Amino acid sequence: MNNSAMLDVIVVGGSYAGLSAALALGRAIRQVVVLDSDEPCNRQTPHSHNFLTQDGSTPAAIAAVSREQVLAYPTVRLHPEAAVSATGEDNHFTVTTASGAVLHARKLLFATGIRDLMPALPGFAECWGISAIHCPYCHGYEYRGQPTGILANGEAIAEMGLLIRNWTDKLTIFTNGPATLQPDQRQQLADRGVVVEETPVQQLLHQAGYLTHLALADGRTVALSALYARLPFEQHCTLPHDLGCTHSAAGHIAVDNFQKTNISGVYAAGDATSPMRAVGAAVAAGMMAGAMLNRELIFGT
Ligand SMILES: Cc1cc2nc3c(=O)[nH]c(=O)nc-3n(C[C@H](O)[C@H](O)[C@H](O)COP(=O)(O)OP(=O)(O)OC[C@H]3O[C@@H](n4cnc5c(N)ncnc54)[C@H](O)[C@@H]3O)c2cc1C
Repeated sequence: MNNSAMLDVIVVGGSYAGLSAALALGRAIRQVVVLDSDEPCNRQTPHSHNFLTQDGSTPAAIAAVSREQVLAYPTVRLHPEAAVSATGEDNHFTVTTASGAVLHARKLLFATGIRDLMPALPGFAECWGISAIHCPYCHGYEYRGQPTGILANGEAIAEMGLLIRNWTDKLTIFTNGPATLQPDQRQQLADRGVVVEETPVQQLLHQAGYLTHLALADGRTVALSALYARLPFEQHCTLPHDLGCTHSAAGHIAVDNFQKTNISGVYAAGDATSPMRAVGAAVAAGMMAGAMLNRELIFGT
């Protein structure tokens, strides 16, 4: 390929949000390169749920059919490597890849996702996405009615407990130390049969990522099939920060309703911009970004 040619858009991140944007841009006959380091956040989960037409498919299968359909558009190309630097300004950005290729484009889209930071709890990382899960809409149905835990503390745990109670009546919240619950919240949870366990958690016992028990610091073990957790995270890619994109207090790239950042010509979409972590939400945001980028290429704003 001719790397010195001015592309319309470089999409950094070629998972659900990035490929969805590339689809809209390809159908608008835009010259697009998608750079992807192929580390989507859900890669360890055996089945993805709650995305229409792909309910229960593997993440790899969804990615494969997405790539096949997007790359059928001749103006869209995929480079399977990371972007390592991004400089420039609206209508002339330069992106360098890990192998040293230098690409130029009028606009940039970051669909680079986030990196979940695993707690220092033996067994947790191995179970992540399999039986240690982030979202009841993605995985709660498969664990309905089964002994389930929530590993969390803080203001939101009562609400989280009452939410997850929808899927199972065998629910324990493991606060890993003294619970920060108000008396009325404790009562609400007790009324719904939700147990609060304050003993520190020591280890997740599992078989190939499928949880069997939680080991507690006092030597007890609690039988569990699933454990919900909301993990801290960091941006997967720091290039938006380097370009001057502002971030929310929680750490997401700040965008408007059209996925535009505060930096002219730079858009962002998907998990990198939103706490609503779902394939469907990433696809919707990517489609919006693709359409708005094309609009901006036509009208200039
Ligand atoms: C364990 C787990 C299970 C999940 N299960 C479900 C489910 O069942 N159903 C559901 O709807 N949702 C599920 N989700 C949420 C869903 O996976 C995410 O919302 C979705 O993957 C977000 O898509 P994205 O394109 O924004 O980011 P990602 O899918 O995370 O992809 C980001 C891409 O950008 C690439 N990238 C990052 N930096 C660079 C760079 N510098 N250069 C090039 N490429 C880069 C990464 O390698 C990656 O390929 C799950 C999430 C997790 C963590």
